[in-house]
Amino acid sequence: MAPTILDGNKIRDQIKAELAEQIQNLKSAGITPGLAAVLVGENPASQIYVRSKVKTCESLGLYSEKIELPADTTQERLLALVDSLNHRDEIDGILIQLPLPPQIDSKRVLEAVDPAKDVDGFHPINVGRLVSGTPGLVPCTPAGIIEILVRSQIPIKGARAVVVGRSDIVGKPVAMLLLHQHATLTVCHSRTRDLPAVAREGDILVVAMGKPAFVTGEFIKPGATVIDVGMNRLTSAEEIRRIYHDPSGPLRDLAAKGSVLVGDVQPEDVKEKAGAYTPVPGGVGPLTIAMLMSNTVRAARLRRGSRAQAA
Ligand code: NDP
Repeated sequence: MAPTILDGNKIRDQIKAELAEQIQNLKSAGITPGLAAVLVGENPASQIYVRSKVKTCESLGLYSEKIELPADTTQERLLALVDSLNHRDEIDGILIQLPLPPQIDSKRVLEAVDPAKDVDGFHPINVGRLVSGTPGLVPCTPAGIIEILVRSQIPIKGARAVVVGRSDIVGKPVAMLLLHQHATLTVCHSRTRDLPAVAREGDILVVAMGKPAFVTGEFIKPGATVIDVGMNRLTSAEEIRRIYHDPSGPLRDLAAKGSVLVGDVQPEDVKEKAGAYTPVPGGVGPLTIAMLMSNTVRAARLRRGSRAQAA
């Protein structure tokens, strides 16, 4: 039987429609949730991410502010900006686009963000809340993965979930969320022995490694749900020939667009082995910005008292 494709674009659209309604209700109560996106330097990928975050805010009717600082910004200047955003009532969410330039201690800046406005969920207070299962702001990509599973009615309770990757941004928080949803959890990393055998135990396999097409058919339990978080850009024909069993389509894409996006899971094998899977592109990626918007609305509700909570 053909596997189910877990369509991230469709789920993102559902979430955005729900958010648009909530935002209208908040606006009727006199509250417009606001997001400030801070970009330091001229990293082209960061510029694209911030632009699309601001655009999504506008399309949903959220207030947004893009604050661009030069690459040589000092830590003190950035901390002063964060402090002023912490104190502005119309700003519910503060997003510091990573990576920051080398002269800045990213950890210190992220810790300076008011936990109530930490829409990326990176502040230690929110990390602690996530671990203890108390309400807080949850990192966007992991929250999006749970939305995909829940809205696609993939059973999590009692399932064996295997997460490959233990980063603070994806692996660890998604592991915590799966545990809170009552999965039986295994977290793997670069020192895991016999990774294919451990991965094959997963009814749900979440892969966040940053290694193009690393997870091949032998890692996948037949019928498993495979969530591929990886986003890797291939730019050489040699790499494409090494990765794909039939490279003709991707080679055409490479010639037309100059690069091909591939996840951490081998895209042909996953179709053969999985029961359901997220494609790359069009799987996990679209959810990340939607969850940022969702966190901004949530932060507004939590911060702005009973009027916001009733809306
Ligand atoms: P990191 O590089 O921070 O973490 C990678 C993890 O994978 C580490 O825990 C590492 O283990 C593990 N790993 C690396 N190689 C191996 C291996 N050979 N065997 C087992 N484990 C291994 O990456 P991120 O978590 O930030 O991102 C992962 C991927 O997800 C990237 O492709 C990134 O682009 C993508 N991403 C996508 C997003 C989206 O919106 N779709 C959002 C965020 C990330 P160890 O800890 O031992 O080093």
